[in-house]
Amino acid sequence: MKSVNLLEFDLDGLAAFCEQLGEKRFRATQLFRWIHQKGASDFAQMSDLAKSLREKLAGTAFVKPLTIASEQASTDGTIKWLFDVGGGDAVETVFIPEDDRGTLCVSSQAGCAVGCRFCSTGHQGFSRNLTAGEIVAQLWFAEHHLRKRLDLADGERAITNIVMMGMGEPLQNYSALVPALRVMLDDHGYGLSRRRVTVSTSGVVPMIDRLRDDCPVALAVSLHAPNDLLRDDLVPLNRKYPIAELLASCNRYLDAAPRDFITFEYCMLDGVNDTPEHARQLVHLVRDHVSCKFNLIPFNPFPESGLKRSPRERVTAFARVLQDAGVVTTIRKTRGDDIDAACGQLAGEVQDRTRVKERISTRAPIRIHREGPQGVSETYNKQESKA
Ligand code: SF4
Repeated sequence: MKSVNLLEFDLDGLAAFCEQLGEKRFRATQLFRWIHQKGASDFAQMSDLAKSLREKLAGTAFVKPLTIASEQASTDGTIKWLFDVGGGDAVETVFIPEDDRGTLCVSSQAGCAVGCRFCSTGHQGFSRNLTAGEIVAQLWFAEHHLRKRLDLADGERAITNIVMMGMGEPLQNYSALVPALRVMLDDHGYGLSRRRVTVSTSGVVPMIDRLRDDCPVALAVSLHAPNDLLRDDLVPLNRKYPIAELLASCNRYLDAAPRDFITFEYCMLDGVNDTPEHARQLVHLVRDHVSCKFNLIPFNPFPESGLKRSPRERVTAFARVLQDAGVVTTIRKTRGDDIDAACGQLAGEVQDRTRVKERISTRAPIRIHREGPQGVSETYNKQESKA
């Protein structure tokens, strides 16, 4: 039998593997607990497993951690790890501590093929999907490393929330995402509630429907624009799945979602999508149509983007338009920006194998609208946006 990495399996997968070794399901549960609850990687440590099983495991399986390329700590307590995943690729994972929670931002791909204008990962291009084991290994490492580092008591957890918002579009790596989510949710694994695990997508409509059926968790959608003309340019996937289709899939998702709202992420870009008119268009789009909350994200500039962060007062005014219309809206606190760990800044190292980087670098610059409250939709050059 070929040697396999046990981090690749959810509990059902591990049970099937153990069956091949002639072992019963409860052995898989014991093994799963050793790996995920205790952070063990050495089968010799797993004292309640029969010696014969430990020997079989030693010959057929392993628990493979990711190689840490670097670690950076922010002054606000945020920690960013760069993991070498081979082949010249490295992905980033970020731990964001808060008073009442510890959130881990997890990557799903080395790079990303969607190519959003405002995203550092998107500008790097795409190399490959991570495996389920590589996704889980980010949590496995962070949880057990932080328990020791923070000197947590037995039973205390370092990671209480997970956001699939690191590098990559998780719904374009669906077959690895779902088993990884199951490990996070499993009571014998990390036991996280569905409400505390969030998948963030740029809007892969058919996969939103599949996630609803297979493994519904909290859903965040990167909206970033109130109309198709602008969103086509900021989030190119919109050309395939325009806003109306996306919102319809959000409503279908809500039938099974653990929360009764969808979070819409909206990155505030100076002069691009941040006028009061844009806010009014958003109200028109969602109010009475989809149960949602808005999370306004201060843009974290990087040179290739050609974009700037909206001034604070404009973000506040934008939020007020939404709030006055009864749309729940928060402004995200920027965390870890001194170590490039904030939203949209994750870049890792990516060997672009799909020419996404080339495509994105040849796109026409976005038209910046600076004066008046009319909004970009009136001044935007359609020809340019399709370039
Ligand atoms: S925002 Fe998300 S989907 Fe868009 S390029 Fe970045 S990682 Fe990909």
